[in-house]
Amino acid sequence: MGLLVVGSIGLDDIETPFDKIENALGGSSTYISLTSSYFTGPVQLVGVVGEDFDEKYIKMFEDYNIDLEGLQIIKGGKTFRWGGKYHYDLNVRDTLFTELNVFENFNPIIPDKFKKSKFVILGNIMPKLQLDVLDQLEDPKFIVCDTMNLWIDIAKDDLLEVIKRVHVLIINDSEARMLAEEPNLIKAAKVIREMGPEFLIIKKGEHGALLFSEDKIFSAPAYPMEDIYDPTGAGDSFAGGFTAFLHKTQDLSFENMKRAVVYGSAMASFCVEEFSTIGLEDLSQLKIQDRFREFKELSRFDENE
Ligand code: AMP
Repeated sequence: MGLLVVGSIGLDDIETPFDKIENALGGSSTYISLTSSYFTGPVQLVGVVGEDFDEKYIKMFEDYNIDLEGLQIIKGGKTFRWGGKYHYDLNVRDTLFTELNVFENFNPIIPDKFKKSKFVILGNIMPKLQLDVLDQLEDPKFIVCDTMNLWIDIAKDDLLEVIKRVHVLIINDSEARMLAEEPNLIKAAKVIREMGPEFLIIKKGEHGALLFSEDKIFSAPAYPMEDIYDPTGAGDSFAGGFTAFLHKTQDLSFENMKRAVVYGSAMASFCVEEFSTIGLEDLSQLKIQDRFREFKELSRFDENE
C-alpha cells in the first residue's frame, strides 16, 4: 500500500541574504513527495494546481514515481503562490505573501485506489483540507502531520481537530511554544501530546530535532553545514524522509523512529544546499546512506576512556 501525501504544490518567490529567485517550484507536498520517493513508491500525491503550472514539473513528478491520479489541474485557475524572505539568521523568515488561489475552493477527492492507504502525510495546508482528506480514508494506521504558525493563528479549532487524529505531529520550536502556550519546550511537548498525537517531533532549525513519546526523548543533531543556501522546504523534506523510511521498513518501534528522524534530518540537509527543490534532485542511495552515517558519527561517543 502506498504512502499518501497531501499538502500544497506551489510557486515560490524566495529571498535570502545571498540571492533571490522567483516562480520556483515549491509547496509542502512537492518537497515531501520528492524526498519520500527515495524511500518508497509510488508516492500518492493529492493536491491542486492551476493551468499555469508548468508541464515540466508534472513530468518531473512522474519521473520520481509520484502517482498523480489525485492531482487536480484547474482550468483557468492560478497555482498557489508564496513569497518568503530570510534574515541573516536563516532560522528567521518573514512571509511576504500567500496567495491560496486554487486552494481557496479546493475539494480534495481521494481516488479509490488511494483510500486504503495506511501511511499518510498531511503536509502543511489549511487544517480543514487535512480533515477532508482524513474523512475519506478507510483505515489509516499511521498519520503524520505538519503545520505552521499561520494556522495556529487563524484556524486553531480545525487544527486541534486534526491533531486529535494524528499519530505524529511535526512542528518547529516557535510553533510548539505558540500551540502549547508554554515557553519551555519539554513542558510544551507534554501539553501538545495531550492534545492527541502519540509522538511529537519538534524541529529546531539548524540545531537539530527532538522526538518525544510518552516516556522517551531522542535528540537528533543537526548537520554542521557551512553553506545553507535556501532553508525553504527543510521541514517538509524532514517529514518526507521520516515517514517514508517508516513506510519502507514498516517498523514503528521507538528505535526505528530514531533512525527515521535521522533520515529526515539527512534529507533536510540536502534540501537546504540549493534553491527550491534542486538539492533533492538526482540524489543517489549511496549519498543518502553516507549522510545518514555522518549523522551517526556526529553524536556517537564511547563512555570509556
Ligand atoms: P517549509 O520551509 O518546510 O516551511 O516549507 C515551505 C513551503 O511551504 C514553500 O514551498 C511554500 O510554498 C509552502 N507554504 C508556505 N506557506 C504555506 C501555507 N500557508 N500553506 C501551504 N503551504 C505553504
